[in-house]
Amino acid sequence: MAIAAGMALPAMAKAKDRAQTVACISNLRQIDLAKHQWATDKKKPAPAVPTWDDLQPYLGMGNGRIQCPKGGEYTIGPVSTSPTCSIPGHALPKTGQAPVATRRQ
Ligand SMILES: [Zn+2]
Repeated sequence: MAIAAGMALPAMAKAKDRAQTVACISNLRQIDLAKHQWATDKKKPAPAVPTWDDLQPYLGMGNGRIQCPKGGEYTIGPVSTSPTCSIPGHALPKTGQAPVATRRQ
């Protein structure tokens, strides 16, 4: 039993890690979308940097803040760039594809 658990745990931790990464990237995608909607609505230029208050109506989270499931810090950044998470690997793919799902560890 102990051996089986010892082998299963790292695999489970890895699966959890992957699920958190996928959830975080989905958050980043929402933030990115919110930024573009905000910029369009407010006629803001690409270098403009929205605040969380600006994005709140577009995120549809009520008063709750969108958060990284692993506790990373989000940086909204200018409209022209993708938002980022402070956790390594939590990043929007530049191509718009989803390499996370197919990436080999
Ligand atoms: Zn994250």
